[in-house]
Amino acid sequence: MLSPYIRHRLITEQEVVAAVLEQHNFAAAEKFIQEVCWRTYWKGWFEQHADLWPSYCAELERCRSELQDDLGLAGLVAAAERGDTGLTCFDAWARELVATGYLHNHARMWFASIWIFTLKLPWALGADFFYRHLLDGDPASNTLSWRWVAGLHTKGKTYLARPDNIAHYTDARFCPDVDELAPFAIALDDDVWGTRCAIRTPIPLPSSGKIVYLLTDEDLHPESLDLGALGVAAVAVFPIDDTRAAPVRAFKTAALADAARRAAEHFACSVEIVTSQEHLADIATASKARAVVTAMLPIGRTRDRVMSWATALPTPIAETQRAWDAFFWPHAKAGFFGLKDKIPAVLSKLDLWPKAVP
Ligand SMILES: Cc1cc2nc3c(=O)[nH]c(=O)nc-3n(C[C@H](O)[C@H](O)[C@H](O)COP(=O)(O)OP(=O)(O)OC[C@H]3O[C@@H](n4cnc5c(N)ncnc54)[C@H](O)[C@@H]3O)c2cc1C
Repeated sequence: MLSPYIRHRLITEQEVVAAVLEQHNFAAAEKFIQEVCWRTYWKGWFEQHADLWPSYCAELERCRSELQDDLGLAGLVAAAERGDTGLTCFDAWARELVATGYLHNHARMWFASIWIFTLKLPWALGADFFYRHLLDGDPASNTLSWRWVAGLHTKGKTYLARPDNIAHYTDARFCPDVDELAPFAIALDDDVWGTRCAIRTPIPLPSSGKIVYLLTDEDLHPESLDLGALGVAAVAVFPIDDTRAAPVRAFKTAALADAARRAAEHFACSVEIVTSQEHLADIATASKARAVVTAMLPIGRTRDRVMSWATALPTPIAETQRAWDAFFWPHAKAGFFGLKDKIPAVLSKLDLWPKAVP
């Protein structure tokens, strides 16, 4: 249950892997390190298929407007989100997600599969339900995992939730009848497979001078970022997305407050929560900043929102990219195994290999 913390980089992937390798040798820690790298894989793959995020957002909007016209479908979606479908396991997971902001990976896979193949609800609405309620809700991991279950990530390969698998891995807490769940899962075909593109180059930092550091929920570990010789005149905290469920907003608000306190201490400067683009522009002007700098923004809602402010600022927005992402992302071209094979080489570049205790 580290994912809400790793997803927001309250702790970084590099820190987690370094801590694990202090205690265990690579062979013992390998499976866990691979799990951490799944997040990196999804992010790197998403960056190299940049058209998928806008197409998902458009599909979500289309589904939402369909709900306005189709009250029958709207009722089914609402019942699924309330945990009121009559399918005991599914209903329990829907309620658990809303109550806790978390589901185990298996439960996420079963839930998504039942949503798509048994209840035959639009996958984009299911992904949005997860995204609104998960404390670790992440555009890349979430959107691509839903697409993977639906058969839209690996052509033709779907994930089918099977009653015996659910009974086995829930230790018989749930034993769905065979005829309650879809017996097969035919891949959806939304005609949007994504076109491979180059990874976006981070917007370069100025070489010297003062900057305003923009803290966002994408990276809450500002003290470990490389800002070169730049002086941080002020830290501005970017407001969170208010479309998320209340517990997610509360988690993010507390996490941002914690990171803001650490940033103020680390950079020895003032911190302000920004309320509008004009407010951020005022801070940049008052600090005579050469740029508003942020940790490189991966594809997703926060980046869309930050970039929509860029034109109103007196200075450019610039980004600093973590070595973890710069080294790993290019290997997320096809399947996970391409990246997995590169883990030792990348850990070595990051000076994390071979630090393992024998
Ligand atoms: C339909 C679906 C939607 C998902 N949506 C999200 C999401 O929005 N955000 C999110 O962070 N994860 C998502 N996942 C991936 C995974 O379920 C969670 O990362 C994992 O359950 C987190 O629990 P944990 O911290 O106990 O993981 P552990 O099993 O303890 O793994 C350790 C760490 O490795 C990483 N990790 C492990 N498995 C995965 C994985 N499959 N993908 C990405 N990272 C992984 C996480 O950072 C995790 O904290 C989704 C999976 C599915 C099937």
